[in-house]
Amino acid sequence: MDDELDDLYQEIILSHNKRPRNMGPLEPHSHEAEGYNPLCGDRYRIYVREGDDGKIEAVTFDGEGCAISKASASILTEAVKNHTRAEVDAKIAEALELLTAKEEPKVDLMTLGELAALAGVRKFPPRVKCATLAWHTLASALKDAGTISTEG
Ligand code: ZN
Repeated sequence: MDDELDDLYQEIILSHNKRPRNMGPLEPHSHEAEGYNPLCGDRYRIYVREGDDGKIEAVTFDGEGCAISKASASILTEAVKNHTRAEVDAKIAEALELLTAKEEPKVDLMTLGELAALAGVRKFPPRVKCATLAWHTLASALKDAGTISTEG
């Protein structure tokens, strides 16, 4: 991966950490779940409001954690808003693939947008669970499955 791309990824992460988007509880909401990453201590609650048309109207997150976990949650809230449930499921799969696939993922900045920054986290294996946390928590919220832990 070239340095310019690394710089771009880092900029995206820093920007979301400094100014997290959609942070705070969401009222009313239709789904929520809590996620905990014991390796780092990241703990977030994700709130989802699903519209009558089946689209995700809004997603917010609340909680505490490191810069990567917070940036990942913030990027998530923007990436899934106004998408259908099926599209959101696809985005969750895509984000987890970017973070955990064995092979270096092909990153298309045009289609991925800020999600691409997650690919930069792969270089720091201990931090991958920080970045996957919000995505696993969103999946759990949509399934009404409650609290999840990255150790589970
Ligand atoms: Zn963390």
